[in-house]
Amino acid sequence: MTTGIRRQRNVKIVATLGPASDTKQMIRELFLAGADVFRLNMSHGTHADIEHRHTIIRELEVELNRPIGILADLQGPKLRCGVFAKDSEILVEGTSFRFDLDSTPGDDTRVNLPHTEIFKALEVGSTLLVDDGKISLTVTACGDDYADTEVTVGGKISNRKGVNVPDVVLPLAALSEKDLADLEFACALGVDWLALSFVQRASDVLQAKELAKGRASIISKIEKPAAVDAFEEILAVTDGIMVARGDLGVELPVQAVPPIQKHLVHACRRVGKPVIVATQMMESMISSPVPTRAEVSDVAQAIYEGADAVMLSAESAAGDYPIEAVTTMNNVAVEVEKDEMYRAGLEASHTPSRARVADAISAAAREVAETTDIKAIASFTQSGTTAMLAARERPRVPIIAITPVPKTARRLALVWGLHCVVSGEVARFKEAVISAAKAAKEAGFASENDMIVITAGVPFNTPGTTNILRVAPVNEKLIYGSELD
Ligand code: PGA
Ligand code: MN
Repeated sequence: MTTGIRRQRNVKIVATLGPASDTKQMIRELFLAGADVFRLNMSHGTHADIEHRHTIIRELEVELNRPIGILADLQGPKLRCGVFAKDSEILVEGTSFRFDLDSTPGDDTRVNLPHTEIFKALEVGSTLLVDDGKISLTVTACGDDYADTEVTVGGKISNRKGVNVPDVVLPLAALSEKDLADLEFACALGVDWLALSFVQRASDVLQAKELAKGRASIISKIEKPAAVDAFEEILAVTDGIMVARGDLGVELPVQAVPPIQKHLVHACRRVGKPVIVATQMMESMISSPVPTRAEVSDVAQAIYEGADAVMLSAESAAGDYPIEAVTTMNNVAVEVEKDEMYRAGLEASHTPSRARVADAISAAAREVAETTDIKAIASFTQSGTTAMLAARERPRVPIIAITPVPKTARRLALVWGLHCVVSGEVARFKEAVISAAKAAKEAGFASENDMIVITAGVPFNTPGTTNILRVAPVNEKLIYGSELD
């Protein structure tokens, strides 16, 4: 792979694929419009659908000469009620309603909730939310196989609607039987990222990591109050975070979401792990070619905060205007990133580099690049760590992530500011410098008379050893050898 297309922005765009976007033509157009990572939602679509989309993306990588990230999103322990004899019922405020383990179709007094573990965890006073929080019920009595509730906010309930239990840490495995099968399937296909839904604790993440065995990196979706509470522990073990505002806004009051988003983005930036802001970013574009001004501001806000990526869900998966949605996000990003207030905001919210050598080298690379006329930072990276540390600095100059490992390039497609390039294997540092210079030139970041900064970790095969900073000319003939070679 060589360099090819380059983006005019730092923030990345994740686009969910679905029925509105699963032909090769559409996926190509979405990529060209600006999608850097494609999300395959395991909650919808068969394994055959997922495999079909995966194959198309890998073919496009070759055609377009660019590494493309693929994120498989696991459904997780999403609770659903059973079915109703009349398919739906209206629940009236103030009346009582029972959830139980009886699979007989429900009526206006009861319905099946086929999750044994839930009843044991519920307490009198616990809240149950149905259908994205549209209906609210409070537990008045409960036992091992039932919960009696009072309807506090009424509405229409129908077959298999989602049920959220916000104030209870559910004694549920993070991965259901379906998730285990989906995880293995996605890893075997070769996806780059796995997103875990309804993570509650750090051990949920560790379990997924153990099963993924390094084949894919883990994004923990923060969408439960328990995950917000255990966020620091989750952040310590996960590879990345998604601010999953859809369910988060159901499990918590909607007004709690913006401050949580700010805190999560800030915390992820502090440790240099990628963070995606997701859900309803361009919601009205499901059925309209133009977004609302509020949506434009929302996308802009995530970019001003310094998030690594913004995400489209139904807008690109099932809407009428998938390409327009990506194009609009791209345009918003380009505009925001031209604003001096964007730089000022990133700098004001930047946390000082940590005490490790790797962090200090990355901070120094930025310093050198910004105080001189250097055109780009090139990070030579095997595992991705060196490049992610360069991105953590949020420098003004472009960052080229060069790696001989295609999997690393794909994974890094999600990370702020990284233009990923796959190089040949290099054994010596001088070869890394030469391939960095070549990549900078090919992507149009620098020309023959320019200088670039290179960061790397030597020896090459040890992750997390960023220990070299070199200023080198782009002109290959001027790259000299030294004791570092
Ligand atoms: P979902 O997750 O789209 O899989 O529900 C994202 C969210 O809840 O925001
Ligand atoms: Mn969700």
